Amino acid sequence: NSRIVLASRPVGAPTPENFRLEDIERPVPAEGEVLLRSVYLSLDPYMRGRMNDAKSYADPVAVDDVMVGATVCQVVESNNPEFEIGEWVLAYTGWQSYGISDGEGLLKLGKQPTAPSYALGVLGMPGFTAYMGLLDIGQPKPGDTLVVAAATGPVGATVGQIGKIKGCRVIGVAGGEEKCRYAKEVLGFDECIDHKAADFEQQLQATCDKGIDVYFENVGGKVFDAVLPLLNTGARVPVCGLISQYNATSLPDGPDRLSMLMGTLLIKRIKMQGFIIFDDYAHRYNEFAQDMTQWLAEGKIQYREHLVEGLDKAPEAFIGLLEGKNFGKLVIQVNQP
Ligand code: NDP
Repeated sequence: NSRIVLASRPVGAPTPENFRLEDIERPVPAEGEVLLRSVYLSLDPYMRGRMNDAKSYADPVAVDDVMVGATVCQVVESNNPEFEIGEWVLAYTGWQSYGISDGEGLLKLGKQPTAPSYALGVLGMPGFTAYMGLLDIGQPKPGDTLVVAAATGPVGATVGQIGKIKGCRVIGVAGGEEKCRYAKEVLGFDECIDHKAADFEQQLQATCDKGIDVYFENVGGKVFDAVLPLLNTGARVPVCGLISQYNATSLPDGPDRLSMLMGTLLIKRIKMQGFIIFDDYAHRYNEFAQDMTQWLAEGKIQYREHLVEGLDKAPEAFIGLLEGKNFGKLVIQVNQP
């Protein structure tokens, strides 16, 4: 039985030294508890924030504590009548091969789920984030131009495909030719632009010849800088994430452009709204689950996973996520099913 703890807090980009792999005794469930064996561990950008000692919408991980994270597990011992051995559950046991739960907060996935790991992606938190952020804040209308970056990740890919279902013209932004090709050929985006291209800004401008009506913000930084002048009057900007800034240790250099941003918001009456998915929308989960299950069954939503074998590979894979090395939803296979 092993686990990965936060060994030290990163300054800037995390390094392997910030994590420590430990061998520990397998926990024993008490009365009312279950022993969970992790099969899949989700790695997500928000974990970078938890490594900082800063107040946010959730508490930081303490140094020497196990890294947090959602897992898909099998019940291997049960002292709780609600759970049977062999059942699959969505849990929050973190970066470790076994966990204990009193059942609180576990989501049952059945005895033989067809694709249990989807509960960490398109059918779980990232899919729900895409669905609510786009539909509730983005308010997409047929014919709108929708732009989304991190276009091949679980949030961005889902945003763009829901945008297509709603009749938008969808422009993705992704890192590299292969991801851009996938966004067009597999996800069905109208265009996808490589943010690493030297003329990225010009390409985005040429592609968005009717401006941008919805910009789903996943990354911030230079992508937002290129998007801002292209926003149309009445545009909506769901602020979901700012991954290009998660490793930043200070504000960027250069002139203060806040007044330019505020001026644009004012003159163009732009609605820009942040959201934290479960804090704001937990009450609408069923609506999402129903629509998404149907869209997947109808083949309207494609989903790609980037599966990495072995808990010991989690630090390296997570560091890579913040650099765009993942291609699809990053999932660690902790144990064989
Ligand atoms: P992804 O799997 O898409 O992973 C992150 C991707 O971001 C990378 O693969 C990379 O893609 C892109 N990226 C990384 N650095 C940069 C950069 N400097 N500039 C541009 N792109 C970059 O992650 P998710 O789909 O899980 O999450 C997407 C966003 O949604 C994140 O910002 C995350 O924090 C946020 N989020 C917010 C939630 C909320 O409740 N508000 C809930 C869930 C997620 P590429 O190679 O294509 O550039």
